[in-house]
Amino acid sequence: MDKNIKKQNVYVSEEEKTLVWENVHESFKKNFGSEIYNSWLQKISLVKEYNDYLILGVPTRFFRDWIVSRYLDKILELVKVFKLSLTRIEFKIIEENKAQEYVKINELNKVTEIKDSILNYNRLNPSLNFESFVKGSSNDIALSYSKKVCEHLSRHNPFYICGGVGLGKTHLLNAIGLELQNDNNVMFISAERFMYHFIKSIKKNDMVNFKDFFRKSSVFIIDDIQFISGKESLQEEFFHTFNSLMEKGSQIIISSDRTPLKLDRIQDRIKSRLAGGLVVDIEIPDLELKKKIIAKKIDEMQDQFKESINLSEEVISYIASESKTNIRELIGILNRVIAFSRVHNKVLSILDCKNILKDVFSQIRVITVDKIQNTVSNYFNIALSEMLSQRRSRPLARPRQIAMYLAKKLTTRSLPEIGRRFANRDHTTVIHAVKTITRLADQDDEMKKNINQIKSLLLEQ
Ligand code: ADP
Ligand code: MG
Repeated sequence: MDKNIKKQNVYVSEEEKTLVWENVHESFKKNFGSEIYNSWLQKISLVKEYNDYLILGVPTRFFRDWIVSRYLDKILELVKVFKLSLTRIEFKIIEENKAQEYVKINELNKVTEIKDSILNYNRLNPSLNFESFVKGSSNDIALSYSKKVCEHLSRHNPFYICGGVGLGKTHLLNAIGLELQNDNNVMFISAERFMYHFIKSIKKNDMVNFKDFFRKSSVFIIDDIQFISGKESLQEEFFHTFNSLMEKGSQIIISSDRTPLKLDRIQDRIKSRLAGGLVVDIEIPDLELKKKIIAKKIDEMQDQFKESINLSEEVISYIASESKTNIRELIGILNRVIAFSRVHNKVLSILDCKNILKDVFSQIRVITVDKIQNTVSNYFNIALSEMLSQRRSRPLARPRQIAMYLAKKLTTRSLPEIGRRFANRDHTTVIHAVKTITRLADQDDEMKKNINQIKSLLLEQ
């Protein structure tokens, strides 16, 4: 309970603050060292700040590619410290003397942005559409029903898409929104943002506007509904919004990382409402889909850069098979490989790729036993103290074993060290856990899926 309250506070205060760019620069200087900072990072300006992404200005294309191929992960990580909701960064090329002007324009915009903030998140990304979504066996059903929902509004209501992180849920919701926005009053919002406005309206004593605003949409799309878990008053409000939208025949579209009935700490009446329409699932992509996505992205980039990008069939297969967790990661890896090949103007060999990816992985994959324990206990919605306790009931023992297994696989800690971190257990207990989970992950699809999802959560952090 305590943890939730804390989470909410962090989020709200974080939302209200806008990024203080000088502080970010300070942190760049400290973390990259003055040499790299002076030659590269100093020139990055803040062009625009959105809820979950930033547009940064850089002076040239070469500059952008260099930064993207070498420093992007670290930059993202450092900015995230100041802006928790950040998920991506985009670069825009701005001649140096114009950079200052952008900042000024941006500040002016902020005034109206605050005034219109309630309208501001209804922002659809024009590139996340149906054309850019590649079909494969893992997302075929979700994709075809998403299109059907657009053709026959209110037939599948609510329409609920679930799947692990980075598998294309937001992309599909966004595509639906784009498709419908011309003829309907489309509202597209993440559950996090819904909460932010909810709390803000309570504070300002302005619930009437809040209710009106959300209830007048004819298509209501809400992303990552699992976020409302454990937040009672938010659930109450969501429930009423949901009912009144359904009553007037609005189409509701929802995404989540799990099926409605598996949502934890969400009222039963909400779960059953969520499950009352059509639920579709997106699975982990297979090799074929990953290759198709790579091919599509290469096409898009060739259009964008107006130059040909040569990746050998071998390299494409290598990237597709190396990226094991999700499509977001796949695209991240691909971008880096391509940026490298453009900067160095060469056709890459597998060995080059291995080197680039080694760098990437060593930068982003700093996974600690602590992180694993926290992520696993959150994932299964159990208290960390219970997961580490001596109790042997299966709902605690399995997550505990999974955490040990991941600690062995993803960190360099020895078995006895891992045992010690799990409330001083013996290393033979860790061996047993690793064996058990290895076997289960092989035999049981559910276990395989859990482990993959936890891995991608760990890589996202
Ligand atoms: P989620 O919301 O499930 O975490 P996203 O929709 O944000 O995942 O997808 C992560 C990234 O992968 C996005 O850049 C998205 O455009 C891309 N992506 C996911 N699935 C596909 C697909 N089938 N075809 C093309 N791009 C995809
Ligand atoms: Mg998403």
